[in-house]
Amino acid sequence: MSGAPRTKRPRTVLEGPAATPAPETAAPAEATPLLLDFLPREAEGETRLGRFFARLREGKLSTTRCPRDGALAWPPRLVCPKCHQGELDWVDLPETGHLYAFSAVLGGAPLGMEAEVPFAVGLVDLDGLALRLFGRVVGRPWTELRVGDSVALEVYRTGDDRVFYRFRAPGPPAA
Ligand SMILES: [Zn+2]
Repeated sequence: MSGAPRTKRPRTVLEGPAATPAPETAAPAEATPLLLDFLPREAEGETRLGRFFARLREGKLSTTRCPRDGALAWPPRLVCPKCHQGELDWVDLPETGHLYAFSAVLGGAPLGMEAEVPFAVGLVDLDGLALRLFGRVVGRPWTELRVGDSVALEVYRTGDDRVFYRFRAPGPPAA
């Protein structure tokens, strides 16, 4: 051990209000704090599901299927939830489905969606597959939606260079 005597560091005493006020670090108005961001991070380096978002940008909703046991996962996975192996195939999902259930967001919307209240969210059974997806439902006021309504997949831009999916209910037939 070193023979040098240890010098006791003087304790810093903070007196009264902080001498140097915290600098104003105003974030851009459109930036959503990461922990309050309702939509997934999809940039390179932020997700290992880049294939999902690349397909979404092409207008296709896709997910993973295990070639060993055929297990279809939603959301897409890196590892098969059934047999735990990590070599998965990507498959495109049907672009139509039916409303299994829905509800309306009347308040307390996620950041960035406050101006869209009220809006509908629903569970959609995809046509021809045993997959039930959650998502926004647009195209009609929520008060005019009915369980069983047909809906179509829609890919939209979020406004900050991301894409996401939602479902569109066709408008009521013209009178
Ligand atoms: Zn598997």
